[in-house]
Amino acid sequence: MRLFELVKYGQGMLEESGVPDAEIDAALLWEHASGMNRTDMFFERDRDISTELETGYLELIRRRCTREPLQYITGVQNFMGYDFCTSENVLIPRQDTEILVETALNLTKSSQKTLDVLDMCCGTGCIGISYGLLRPDSKVTLADISGDAIRVTRKNVTKLCDEPERFDVINTDLFGDVDGQFDLILSNPPYIKSDVIEALMPEVRDNEPRLALDGKADGLYFYRIIVSQAIKYIKDEGYVVFEIGNDQAEDVQHLFVDTGYDDVHVVQDLCRNDRVVYG
Ligand code: GLN
Repeated sequence: MRLFELVKYGQGMLEESGVPDAEIDAALLWEHASGMNRTDMFFERDRDISTELETGYLELIRRRCTREPLQYITGVQNFMGYDFCTSENVLIPRQDTEILVETALNLTKSSQKTLDVLDMCCGTGCIGISYGLLRPDSKVTLADISGDAIRVTRKNVTKLCDEPERFDVINTDLFGDVDGQFDLILSNPPYIKSDVIEALMPEVRDNEPRLALDGKADGLYFYRIIVSQAIKYIKDEGYVVFEIGNDQAEDVQHLFVDTGYDDVHVVQDLCRNDRVVYG
């Protein structure tokens, strides 16, 4: 088959399986299988493709047809301009979460001192690592209960950070093994209500780790614990900054205020959904 016929064929298979954005995914999987970029693809659209490459590409298409997330097949997801390694053991970085990093950068932009930052429930490490790369005067601790997540975070530190000594990666159940005082505690904890997980899209429901999604009965379990325990780990004038589900702003604000935090605010994402609460 010629290149454009093959990619069109792949797109058709994805469409039949109900994959959203089939055209984009067919092209991205071709780039991954062949090592070509989009411009080469355009100029070489009539090229005959070897059977070997064709088989390899269609194998990736078949995986995507089962609704395996694209990022688990390609192994990467861009976040804040950096390509993070992903794996089926960690939540895939979401673009929606970039506003959390931007909020944290804004809250600390006038600070001149070295900042101590904690990314609690770090997953791939995308939040803490991108903050740390954009604030080269910071020291970042990345914490997660999952040993698999910790391995992915370490891989991302090695891949993306020129000064890996600024990044400390620890395997801990919440604050259990955390030491020190922080200017910022950043967290995108699991926050989906347990009984809502079944209604999520198959990519998320059947593939991403429950451990990274399930916020227990009311979705607020981890916010409660982190808000109350963070008091012992946050410096005066420091901030705890959370990603939240878009219907959780009021509840999380109350948790902050009832625990004695001040300067509590909500930030919306580009789709105008409530996405971040800090205090
Ligand atoms: N935002 C994720 C989703 O849409 C959930 C992330 C989380 O629970 N922290 O599935």
